[in-house]
Parts: sequence; structure tokens; C-alpha cells
Amino acid sequence: AEEQLRQAQKMQALGHLTGGIAHDFNNLLTVIQGSADVLQRPDLSEERRVRFAAAISTSAARAANLTSQLLSFARRQPLRPETIDINEHMLETIDLLDRTLGETIEIKAHLCENTCIVDADPAQLEAAILNIGVNARDAMPGGGCLTLKTSKAPEDWGMGNAILISLSDTGTGMDSETLSRVFEPFFTTKGVGHGTGLGLSQVYGFVTQSGGEIRVESEVGQGTTVTLALPCSSHAHSSPRDKVNVEVTPAG
Ligand code: ADP
Repeated sequence: AEEQLRQAQKMQALGHLTGGIAHDFNNLLTVIQGSADVLQRPDLSEERRVRFAAAISTSAARAANLTSQLLSFARRQPLRPETIDINEHMLETIDLLDRTLGETIEIKAHLCENTCIVDADPAQLEAAILNIGVNARDAMPGGGCLTLKTSKAPEDWGMGNAILISLSDTGTGMDSETLSRVFEPFFTTKGVGHGTGLGLSQVYGFVTQSGGEIRVESEVGQGTTVTLALPCSSHAHSSPRDKVNVEVTPAG
């Protein structure tokens, strides 16, 4: 009975998924078709010709973006784990966040004191943090603060020697209905052409494939915290300590 329930839930998720893509894609095709029809009119003004050509171009680019995200999701790029120092890696990622998120988002970082080595794919870890950062920015349209912390995973995560990477924003937060669906592929509240709903499901896939865990806490009007736990490498000697006293202010 439990297996049946799981299967039914899977089918339901699949239904959401295909419905979602078909819907977004259709909307984009409608724009393209409508604009192409207008462009065929012989008496078209130059101003309208330019406007409708631009609409075709934008919609086609969004459709291409949707398919490429779909493909990369379907392909599930294989992990290429490397031995990485999390704090060093986070310093680089913070620079990237700083350049990507724009001036209205203040970025703060608290990195734990000790070296923590993990076996993880550095490119996919960076992509995961960036995904979470972009969601945070989208939740703070009027600007706000994004805090990145690393710390030793406490006992109750049940992961043994592991490091936590958490990102907290001061954004809109989510209600419990949204929160319960954040990892669902193609679940988005951002509307056609803005969200694909693949960000957090990709992050989820990466973290669990890396032997880690992810949790999201959120409160409407207060903000959201996404926390990743990654197991520390068994080859490394040092483990993260619980101290949080290294303050980093990203340049520029
Ligand atoms: P997308 O960003 O394309 O919508 P995601 O899978 O990354 O897809 O996120 C799914 C949904 O989860 C978002 O549409 C949004 O409603 C919600 N969400 C994710 N991160 C946050 C956040 N930091 N604050 C508020 N809502 C969020």
C-alpha cells in the first residue's frame, strides 16, 4: 500500500511537471505565432515591425532557456567530485554572488574557523549556491541582506562529521504550501519566462547525490534560510569547529 501511494505521488508530480512545461511552452509559442502573424501584414509601420520582431526574439530566447534547463535537468550532469576546502571555496563563491546579485543586496559572510575538507563537485556546489542566492534576490525586490554561514553540523542532523552551509535572506518568505513544494521540479511562483522551477530541485539532486542533506526554513514577511549539510572528507584531518568568528566583507 505504501509503494502504491509513493507511485501515485510520483505520477502526480509527473503530471504537474509535464503540465507545467507544456503550459509555459505554449504561452511562448502563442506570443511567437501572434507576432509572426502581425509581421505578415503589408501595411505595417516600422515601429510595429521592430516591436513584434523583438517579441519573437525574446520569447524564442526564453523557450530556448527553458529547454536547455530541461535538458540539463534530464541529463543530471555526472558529479566530478574534488577535494575542496569549503571556506576557500565559499570565499570565491561570495565574490561571484556579489557580482551577480547586484547592488541592492548586501552580502555578509561568517565562515567557521577551522578548515573543512569535503569531496564534492566544485562547479555544481557553486551553481547550487548561486541558485539559492538568485532565489534570495528575487525574494528581496526592494533590496535586503543575504548572510552566508559555514559551521560544524550539530548532532541532530545525524550526519556525523559534516559542515553546514546556510544562506539566509531578509525577503518575503514562503507560506507552508509553497514551502512544502520547493523541491518539486517545475514548481515556481515566478510566472512564465521568469521561473523554471528547476533551481531548488537541482540543488536537492546535487546535495543528496553528494551524500548530504538540505533543509529550508521560512517565515512569511521574515525571510528564508536554506541550509546544506555536506559530509567532511574522511581523508582530511581537520574538522570544523563550532566557532563563527571570521567576518568577511566582500569587496566592491
Ligand atoms: P524558480 O526560482 O525558477 O521559481 P526554484 O526551484 O528555485 O525555482 O524555486 C521554487 C519556488 O520556491 C520559487 O518560485 C519561490 O516561490 C520559492 N522560493 C525559493 N527560494 C525562495 C526564497 N529564498 N524566498 C522566498 N521564496 C522562495
